[in-house]
Amino acid sequence: MHIQMYVYNGDTMAEGICYICNQTYTAASKDAVVDQIVEHMMAQHWGHVRRDTLETKNKFDKCPNCGATLGKPLVKCPNCGADLIEQFARKTTKGYIKG
Ligand SMILES: [Zn+2]
Ligand SMILES: [Zn+2]
Repeated sequence: MHIQMYVYNGDTMAEGICYICNQTYTAASKDAVVDQIVEHMMAQHWGHVRRDTLETKNKFDKCPNCGATLGKPLVKCPNCGADLIEQFARKTTKGYIKG
């Protein structure tokens, strides 16, 4: 997904696109648009995101939540229980932020 900042009616807005279905989201900040897209992906594309999360190339070296060493594809952190499917969606969304 590609996120861009732009000015709309004098306010800075962030725009992002779901990389799975290309739906566009806008919000007042990058964090807010990331939250919206991640929420949408969890509701609409959970199975797709789960498959991507479990691809070896997408594995987390460390848990983004607690920092525990992972190093293999997992859907849940064995240390803190963080949902790594959601964490993967969040990381991917942020990785494409522009502007
Ligand atoms: Zn979508
Ligand atoms: Zn963890």
